[in-house]
Amino acid sequence: MKIIFISDLHLSPDTPEKNQLFYALLAKWQGTIDALYILGDFFDYWLGDDDRNPFISEMERQLANFAATTRVYFRGGNHDFALGKKFAKKCNITLIPDLYTINLNGNITLLSHGDTFCTLDIGYQKMKRILQNPVTIFLLKLLPLTWRYKIKEQLEQKSHTTPNGKPDYIYCVVNEAIVDFAEDTGATWVIHGHTHRPGIFTIANSKIRQLTRFEIPDWQDNPAGGYLLFDGEKIEIVAAQ
Ligand code: MN
Repeated sequence: MKIIFISDLHLSPDTPEKNQLFYALLAKWQGTIDALYILGDFFDYWLGDDDRNPFISEMERQLANFAATTRVYFRGGNHDFALGKKFAKKCNITLIPDLYTINLNGNITLLSHGDTFCTLDIGYQKMKRILQNPVTIFLLKLLPLTWRYKIKEQLEQKSHTTPNGKPDYIYCVVNEAIVDFAEDTGATWVIHGHTHRPGIFTIANSKIRQLTRFEIPDWQDNPAGGYLLFDGEKIEIVAAQ
């Protein structure tokens, strides 16, 4: 049993080399792994399943080809939460909710993009509740695509020019929050991305005997890329190239 977990590739038409690296990995994995979990910020932005360009068409072709032999599960992140059923159906991939659990060799494993665990970033959590509300997503998708691109550009400019002065720890995952979510589900393993601080960490706590947090390597701040591999027993970090 081999399962791969990836996230935070931040792929777009502007990242041709990373896109090719991902396609090469799909070719390598095909027929050798049992499932692929994509846990968000796979795309650097997703403005709706009606957006068409050569990059999206090629990705669709690659994913559909891979998913013909291997199960692919997808959970959006803060950059691609708007990815919807239409795209999933075309690629034959399965959308999963946040805080989804799977059983890995007896270890109940909690899957999330990871932003849910950044509970100290109150401003972000407020914005997420509004932006990722199904009503907001429905309304945004009614806007012409050119307007959605304008809104995206304005949001990007704003985030680049507004100094927020928040200390770094605000953007980190909060162990207490992870313990609470894990306790609710009985999980002893947690897999996520989002903060671009990959690694394997043990969370000491009094509630759960042992909790291990696996953070997936991103492909943005760590340009060499990487992913998590479950080999049937344990999980390790593997370099993408
Ligand atoms: Mn993210």
